[in-house]
Amino acid sequence: MDEPPRDPFLDDPSDPAQALEALDGDHVDEPLSPDEREDALNDLEDLEIFRVLLEPDGVRGVVVDCSDCGEAHYVGWDLMQANLRQLLDVGATRVHEPPFDPDPHDYVTWDYARGYADGTMRAADTSEES
Ligand SMILES: [Zn+2]
Repeated sequence: MDEPPRDPFLDDPSDPAQALEALDGDHVDEPLSPDEREDALNDLEDLEIFRVLLEPDGVRGVVVDCSDCGEAHYVGWDLMQANLRQLLDVGATRVHEPPFDPDPHDYVTWDYARGYADGTMRAADTSEES
């Protein structure tokens, strides 16, 4: 029985196939660190609560201070949720949404939404107790 042909790159540290594998490995790695992923998931959950509470009042989304251009971006609920899902999927967001003409009064900051949600839940707790 003939011996199989010897891999010419066996024991060769510069094996191009190995370099290729290492490269592939980088690509399948989780794009976000576990902490970043957790943050994004929490944001997504918060966002759903904010939307349920605020959308009936005519709030159309959140205003986000953009670290890239230093301007405030008015981001609708759908786009904000899509951005977070994209962050979870591919580890990046579309930084700039298509330009439109938002009414700043229709948007709230994340902090405002959080305060509103906290206040609403506290009020709900109190009314259940009494
Ligand atoms: Zn920007």
